[in-house]
Amino acid sequence: MTSGASLDAVGSVSTGPTLRGKVCLGCGQAKEYSAFHRRRHSPDGYRPRCKQCRKASSRAYYEKNVDALKAKSAQFRCEQPKRARACVSAWITRNRSKKRARDREYHREHREEKLAYNKTPERRAAHRANAKYQKARRKAAIAATVQPITAEQWEEIQASYLMLCVYCLERCDDLTMDHVVALNRGGDHTAGNVVPACRKCNREKTDKSVVVFLAERPITAQPIMGRGSGPTLRGSEK
Ligand SMILES: [Zn+2]
Ligand SMILES: [Zn+2]
Repeated sequence: MTSGASLDAVGSVSTGPTLRGKVCLGCGQAKEYSAFHRRRHSPDGYRPRCKQCRKASSRAYYEKNVDALKAKSAQFRCEQPKRARACVSAWITRNRSKKRARDREYHREHREEKLAYNKTPERRAAHRANAKYQKARRKAAIAATVQPITAEQWEEIQASYLMLCVYCLERCDDLTMDHVVALNRGGDHTAGNVVPACRKCNREKTDKSVVVFLAERPITAQPIMGRGSGPTLRGSEK
């Protein structure tokens, strides 16, 4: 095979007044340079075959050698688990939206299976153990707070929010403390990080940020202001 260099030079074409390109060695089509991957040591700085051709040939190679390649990567995973995991997380970082789409698709396809699996005694036990662990972590985070919220501060906060849930704006007799930045995301159990929320909203928010929680929630909750004796009256009762 002749060197790609001379052919690159020969195949060099002008595709327009400003856009420059060349003929692809694979498909023989004249394409702009943006259709080629860069390669530093090529005379023109680009690979001889266009991106499309390279993709097609690597796909063909994969399909032809799929078993051998799978065995090879299984061996890699087995021999160097740490590096293999690092490769996977690097890929996920580069392809976040692709990964999310794949996960959604996988979830759709395996929904029933997953539900059945989660009902097995082992999974239930694991779930309980995790809940216990999270509860302990939560307790530890609160215990580690230097100036934890006091009962008076909590009363004041509720009154300043007119005894309403900050998320659905419903009047509520047993408001719960919602941590704006969740404890397991580094939030503090301090007056500055606590707002009143009804049980339902607090449970639904889990450890999401306020923006994400409100963005994801369906717009059904209608604020009910001035119901009954009115929120201000209640606030001044104390
Ligand atoms: Zn091509
Ligand atoms: Zn609420």
